[in-house]
Amino acid sequence: MKTSIATVSLSGTLPEKMQAAAAAGFQGIEIFENDLVQFEGSAADICQLAADLQLEIIALQPFRDFEAMPEPYRTQNFYRAQQKFELMHQLGTKKLLICSNVSPHLINDKARAAADLHELAELAQQEGFSIGYEALAWGRYTADYGDAWDIVKQADHDSLGIILDNFHMYARGNTLDILRDEIPVDKIALVQVADAPALQMESLYYSRHFRCFPGQGDMKVKEFVQCLQDKGYTDYLSHEIFNDEFRSSPAPQKAVDGMRSLIWLAEQTTAPDTDKQEASEQQDNEQIQDVEFIEFALPEGVDNPLFQLLEALGFRETHHHRSKKVTLMQQGGINLVLNREPSSQAHEHYKTHGSSVCALALSTGNLQRSFDRAAQYHCASFMNQAGPGELNIPAIRAIGDSLIYFVDDQCKVNFYDVDFAPIAGIEKAGIGLERIDHIGQTVAHTDFLSAAFFYKSLLEFDITPSQDLPDIYGLIVSRLAVSQNKKVRIALNMTSTSKASSQRFLDKTKGSGVQQIAFSCSDIFATASAIPAALLLEIPNNYYLDLAARFGLDKALLTRLRSHNLMYDRSEEGEFFHCYSKEVNGVFFEIVQRVDNYQNYGEGNAHVRLAAQSRQYKAQLNE
Ligand code: MG
Repeated sequence: MKTSIATVSLSGTLPEKMQAAAAAGFQGIEIFENDLVQFEGSAADICQLAADLQLEIIALQPFRDFEAMPEPYRTQNFYRAQQKFELMHQLGTKKLLICSNVSPHLINDKARAAADLHELAELAQQEGFSIGYEALAWGRYTADYGDAWDIVKQADHDSLGIILDNFHMYARGNTLDILRDEIPVDKIALVQVADAPALQMESLYYSRHFRCFPGQGDMKVKEFVQCLQDKGYTDYLSHEIFNDEFRSSPAPQKAVDGMRSLIWLAEQTTAPDTDKQEASEQQDNEQIQDVEFIEFALPEGVDNPLFQLLEALGFRETHHHRSKKVTLMQQGGINLVLNREPSSQAHEHYKTHGSSVCALALSTGNLQRSFDRAAQYHCASFMNQAGPGELNIPAIRAIGDSLIYFVDDQCKVNFYDVDFAPIAGIEKAGIGLERIDHIGQTVAHTDFLSAAFFYKSLLEFDITPSQDLPDIYGLIVSRLAVSQNKKVRIALNMTSTSKASSQRFLDKTKGSGVQQIAFSCSDIFATASAIPAALLLEIPNNYYLDLAARFGLDKALLTRLRSHNLMYDRSEEGEFFHCYSKEVNGVFFEIVQRVDNYQNYGEGNAHVRLAAQSRQYKAQLNE
């Protein structure tokens, strides 16, 4: 199917929107008339710009409150339509989008609506144009697409078709049955796609503020597109997204997100089901396997609080890079790379963000496939890895200014055994940390959908629905991105408030990044004992009183938990023990022990942890 986006979906002026759409690779655009009305040039200028950018203007939209009106509105509407036809000649577009009438003057008569649309289609045909009719979910008498189809069918004109917008269909609770069984492909004038989180609210407000790109929300857009595909529809899929965050985000970035969404939709709806199953079994072995290492950008020397915190967690520099100011820390199955090399990507990251995580290395079962997917999804590669200061591993640009390295078994051998040499006289230390349990990345609220979809589309991670975590100074919203084998778990956090933990991190580190790293262990009491108490986040006594009431824990266990500032959770699957380090440059570490098959993250404790972190932050301000 061909790719298009309505200009209302992007921020900026009309030329800025068009340039962003073209740069992202869209073939077509729908011109949202407000964008044209507020543009200082002429419609012919837009026609020329579209030609220069090789964008087809697939439609002008929307034309409102047209059908089944009494006089004098009816005559005025036909006059208005003639003016729009003239404008369409100047714009170089051949299709006008008509959305169902919401006027208080509207007559509830399908036959009149059909007759008006027939008459307008006849006029459009004389101009070489066609019209499409769309049911708005809040249309006064035509709100379901089945009713719009009844009117289009009754109007019976070659230059009139139905516009299918899955947002309206799903917001009304419509099924795909009428589309599947009744609507011929040649009567589909245009298909608009949009997603949205599952929310219960009035449909006009829902539509104007919460739409997002397909794959970013909870609607069954995939099934809708699959249905069209099965019918043999091959024309445009066009995004029509009204979203407050999109309006306040750079158009080029959102246009790329929109293109990724259509690529993802195409990927999800191409192969027949039987092939999909075989392909998916093969892909399981080729996907992201684990976090191979985490790279930190640090200043020269060891007089650095983040470095010192890592040492307090039992990490030692065990290997040095043979040619660069890069060292390796290992503990259990955890590899941390400390990059202090000048003139490197890491150093650039350090200059902007301070001591921080600058890259994640993910192991993959098929290196070429991982890079091919990144290219397919318009993700920039980081290719100057052979330059001074760069690790000899290819990478892609990821969240914020960070990188993701892809490594396979051969890369690991080259990296650890060829690039690094053991540091003499250093014995492997450790306090029982075994592997990276999960990672927390904090992003600006305008990047939240985009970041989750990055993991979902490029890396084929599953994304959980959003969860609210109450911070003492606001609300944090969190979603999890989890690899297919469940070994890589990345919590994505954001806030819309100015003082919550996530915003403090963004302010401190000047942008999105890794705020949290959780390490797992098998004996958390022993591990926590090995960490200086002053470095652990202090948990208030009231938490333990509540814990006793909630779980009926015995006094001895409560005392042990309290003495190490440990938190606790229990589910039907098992138990969870965890504690937190204090923050350094906004970054903190968590130590976790999962007992039996506990799969959660102690979410019920998050508000106590967030309040404790706010206390630490205030205490540091007063120091
Ligand atoms: Mg629409």
